Amino acid sequence: MEVFDSPDSAREYVGSFRSRGQTVGFVPTMGALHEGHLSLVHSARSCDVAVASIFVNPTQFGPTEDLEKYPRTLDADLEKLRTAGVSAVFVPTKEQMYPDGFSTWVESPRIGETLEGICRPGHFRGVATVVLKLFQALPATHAYFGKKDYQQWRVIEAMARDLNVGTEIIGCETVREADGLALSSRNRYLSENDRERALLLSAALNQVEKSYVSGEARTEILQIQMRELLLGQQPTATNTLSDASGTVPRLDTLDYATIVSAEDLTPLTSIDRPVVALIAGSIGTTRLIDNRELQRI
Ligand code: AMP
Repeated sequence: MEVFDSPDSAREYVGSFRSRGQTVGFVPTMGALHEGHLSLVHSARSCDVAVASIFVNPTQFGPTEDLEKYPRTLDADLEKLRTAGVSAVFVPTKEQMYPDGFSTWVESPRIGETLEGICRPGHFRGVATVVLKLFQALPATHAYFGKKDYQQWRVIEAMARDLNVGTEIIGCETVREADGLALSSRNRYLSENDRERALLLSAALNQVEKSYVSGEARTEILQIQMRELLLGQQPTATNTLSDASGTVPRLDTLDYATIVSAEDLTPLTSIDRPVVALIAGSIGTTRLIDNRELQRI
């Protein structure tokens, strides 16, 4: 497996396949790799060659966010990518991505203005900028993003469309632990007790899906149900996460629990098109997000 730190050598490598008409699948990551990332690699391997990047992008972190303590496990990550069948990894330095005098930004598309765009001002500007820069270094035919970061996937899709990037953006399903917790590099910050509480997110999504499948189509009602579960306001009897002492778990903060159009993330009164339920909240200092595309099976 090749490891490049300069954008020029990465571009030359990808170009050598593209000039022969071969497809190149690209998986951008911030490292601290887990099975979720590796599932994207697995999808990328349907191309002739799979490439990845590891870069903890400082411009997508807010001033009070966890940039400094974001997990960095480069050697283990490279080993995982090699085993997963990646042919080359781009691991740039901060200076290569943001050289002295850097001042050109990609503004977030409109779809990035709600939800995470409100909770994390500037986040999607940082994401859109770094992903476009990564696409310059690795001009792949296909790029794979997790639906775990649902709005991010939609932001990248819109950016690639609006800026004629020419790389096909593919959204991949969220990989979960057996008990439903969506895999995330940030899960390692959770204590045993907090990890139990983190199950509230997938439990709320299960519940909202169940209500929807049983016929409830009013988003207001579905959202109230999710919020009550997440904030520990449901009766113990109906809350399967309550412990033996009857303590009902809750998130420490709830940023949003909402149901919006899956296509453009706009709010709806009643479900009459494909929708996604999205949740963001914190347990202690760890911020977690999760979502579910609701389907009437
Ligand atoms: P990150 O390293 O957190 O920036 O994530 C890199 C890519 O992996 C993004 O496209 C994420 O959406 C995706 N990803 C993260 N967690 C998961 C997961 N549990 N399942 C599927 N994809 C994921």
